[in-house]
Amino acid sequence: MHYVIIGNGVAGISAAFQIRQRERAARITVVSGESDYFFSRTALMYAYLDRMNLRDLEPYERTVYDRQRIERVRGWVRDLDAGRRAIRLDDGREIGYGRLLLAVGSVPHRLPWPGLESAREGVVHFVSLQDLAACERWTPSTRRAVVVGGGLIGVELVECLVHHGVEVDFLVRESWYWPMALAREEGDLIAEHLRGHGVRLHLDHEVESVVASAGGRIAAVRTSQGREFPCEMLGICIGVRPAVDWLAAVRTPPALGRGIRVDSSFRTSLPDVWAAGDCAEFPLPDGGAKVEQIWYAAKRQGELAGRAMLGDRVAYQPPLFYNSAKFFDVEYTTVGEVTRLPGDAVSFFHRFPGRAASLRLIEQDGRVTGFNMLGSRWDHTWFERWIHERRSMDEVMEHLHLAQFDVEFGRVRLDEARAAYRAFRGAARRQERA
Ligand SMILES: Cc1cc2nc3c(=O)[nH]c(=O)nc-3n(C[C@H](O)[C@H](O)[C@H](O)COP(=O)(O)OP(=O)(O)OC[C@H]3O[C@@H](n4cnc5c(N)ncnc54)[C@H](O)[C@@H]3O)c2cc1C
Repeated sequence: MHYVIIGNGVAGISAAFQIRQRERAARITVVSGESDYFFSRTALMYAYLDRMNLRDLEPYERTVYDRQRIERVRGWVRDLDAGRRAIRLDDGREIGYGRLLLAVGSVPHRLPWPGLESAREGVVHFVSLQDLAACERWTPSTRRAVVVGGGLIGVELVECLVHHGVEVDFLVRESWYWPMALAREEGDLIAEHLRGHGVRLHLDHEVESVVASAGGRIAAVRTSQGREFPCEMLGICIGVRPAVDWLAAVRTPPALGRGIRVDSSFRTSLPDVWAAGDCAEFPLPDGGAKVEQIWYAAKRQGELAGRAMLGDRVAYQPPLFYNSAKFFDVEYTTVGEVTRLPGDAVSFFHRFPGRAASLRLIEQDGRVTGFNMLGSRWDHTWFERWIHERRSMDEVMEHLHLAQFDVEFGRVRLDEARAAYRAFRGAARRQERA
């Protein structure tokens, strides 16, 4: 059987290894337009920060692909013909398949801001290796940059630019930083931290147009608040979306929604074609659909899709949401749902005085359902366990020390948090009685 995988990101490569582990005789081909070897996209910023070489971004020795007999093909796939079971690359090469996995990931969002089409130089995203190369190319001739979009990728780009001595105006449309993932208090904490690093953060600012120089280099960004921010570089970090535009134009397109529609066993609408990772869209029991665009989900989906392609019965259930990252020096760990909460949810927030550190626990119907931790290091597996075991917030607060990593610096004072928690519960009881 010839297994062909389009995309050598974590989803595609996890599927390839899964298939090889189980089918020694299979032929496996991985096609990618971006890079010859799988690399860790989440570590892109460390290359731009000069802390890692490009080669260090690759989690595996390059020899592993030959040893595992995984053929690598470099090129962009432009056509898919499910009738003939073949894909075609942009240079005309055709590859036949027995089973095909689409693991094509995400592409950055871009809005048609007036003037953008004239800015041919200095406008960047921060998603691919090609984006990284563009960032590195423009940085030496940049004194001021504008970064648009208050999410994780935006803040990573900002940190890299600050590292290179670039003055940054960071434009965020919302009234606090990253409301999709952080409540206002945490957003304010991060805003303070960014400003402490010299970043000029502008909340409630929406781009209206951009201005290019006569030579085509980005020169300024104008916002609907009537401000103009001069710059030599513009970073557009307003989110990513599944990389599916090309699939709409192929000979036999799979069913598409926001992403490639799959069932819980990763099957698309086409025979013997599966999809996994950032590009896959799952149906939800309530009739909605879900696209998961995080590393851990893509890895898990890739492994399971590989198994499904081998013929295993697979029923994917999106796991409890977990993510971890850093905003400059502030560690971030989140588990469960912490922002879109029903009215009766209890939310306990504590900011540690004098530190860029806080904790938030969410309780619904007497059991903990979410954690949002900033400024210290936590073992998320404890949080997941407490949520699965339906522990109450009282119990979790009592045992919270178990989840705190034993690092020399950066631990938070849990006695202080527990005193604040007792006061919070006491106030709630008094309010109930009144
Ligand atoms: C800067 C940055 C930081 C991030 N940080 C975090 C983090 O801290 N935590 C976290 O959980 N997630 C993070 N993410 C998200 C995470 O990296 C993704 O969820 C994950 O990499 C998705 O893996 P994937 O295999 O689905 O897709 P991808 O890694 O996007 O791989 C898909 C590959 O397919 C290729 N491809 C697409 N179309 C074609 C085609 N037609 N022909 C050939 N090849 C094609 C693409 O070029 C790409 O190489 C971050 C993302 C970015 C950009």
